[in-house]
Amino acid sequence: MSEQPSSPSSATFRPASAAMVCPTCRAEWRGVATCPRCGSDLTVLMRVARRAWELRQALHAALCAGNRATEALALARTACQLHTTPHGQRLLALALLMNGQRAEAYALIEQVLQEQKSEH
Ligand SMILES: [Zn+2]
Repeated sequence: MSEQPSSPSSATFRPASAAMVCPTCRAEWRGVATCPRCGSDLTVLMRVARRAWELRQALHAALCAGNRATEALALARTACQLHTTPHGQRLLALALLMNGQRAEAYALIEQVLQEQKSEH
């Protein structure tokens, strides 16, 4: 299995596979501009989530186009690096399949299923 190289420049955003949390008190972030626990300004998180959402919209278009597999995969990876969501992970798995990267796609799907199980 090949792991994505972790660049030292991405220190601001952990390559998180978990939900985003408040950078101050680590409370789980629920899409609000101010942390309800410690009052930290979370508009940066909102911008990141918004950007990831926009990437997923572009990704949808690329997936549906059928002939933009490489672009779709790049968008999917970027979106997941910004903000990992189960939806984003499923789209990434789809993009991987479109590019013939089955091993990584199946590993990802397995991971998503595991996470879903542990949530219930
Ligand atoms: Zn907080």
